[in-house]
Parts: sequence; structure tokens; C-alpha cells
Amino acid sequence: MTELAHFWIVSPMMEEVEPVLEDGSGPLVQFADAVCVEARTKREAKVLGVKLMEHWPTYARRDDRNPFSGVKAESALCPHGLCHCDIEGCSNYPENDLCPECREEHDREFEKLMEDRSLMDDPE
Ligand SMILES: [Zn+2]
Ligand SMILES: [Zn+2]
Repeated sequence: MTELAHFWIVSPMMEEVEPVLEDGSGPLVQFADAVCVEARTKREAKVLGVKLMEHWPTYARRDDRNPFSGVKAESALCPHGLCHCDIEGCSNYPENDLCPECREEHDREFEKLMEDRSLMDDPE
């Protein structure tokens, strides 16, 4: 039997006008739902995840879209075996933080990105 695993389920991007003015108009904001579930397979995770989503199912129905199309299921487990989910009681790593090795990788990528940027900004 497959073990239970933790997944991040992410909806496609949604767009909605944020009504900041009195007539209900405002800037268009983009957002997505992201939830964590415990499941044995990605397919099962998607079914559970879509049920938990706050905005996406209504949004999809309004547009006559299949609420499962475009939904992504990603394992919350990083390559170093730590879980980056936000499921309460998941013992792998506290506070939904990155594992130290992942953090290092991210920092390196970020530094590289910054280096590339500064090269591009250079007019010469
Ligand atoms: Zn977890
Ligand atoms: Zn990691």
C-alpha cells in the first residue's frame, strides 16, 4: 500500500476586480488558491484539495470550467526529505519554513539572479 504523503494543491490563476472605489471598481488582482492535503496519490490529493479551496471551485463553476482542470499537485517533500507543507502536526519541519539545504539553494539562485540582473543593467 502506498504511504500517505503531503501535497500542495495549487489552483490556476484567478482574476478579480478589487472593489476599492465606491462604485465597486478597482484594480484587477490575480490570485490563486493553495492548500495542503494528505493523500496517497496526486489524483487523490487533487480531489481533496479542490474541495478545500476557498475561491477556485466557485470561480471555475462561474466560467463553466471543470474545477479539476489546471489544478496542480506538487509533493510537499523536498529533495532532502523534509516536508514543506502547512498541515498541523506534520513533524518534518516547523513553521512552514524551508529546510536548510533548500534555503541555501534558494539563496544561491537568488544571488545568481541578482548577478545576471546587474550584468543586464550595465549599459556597456
Ligand atoms: Zn507535511
Ligand atoms: Zn530541502
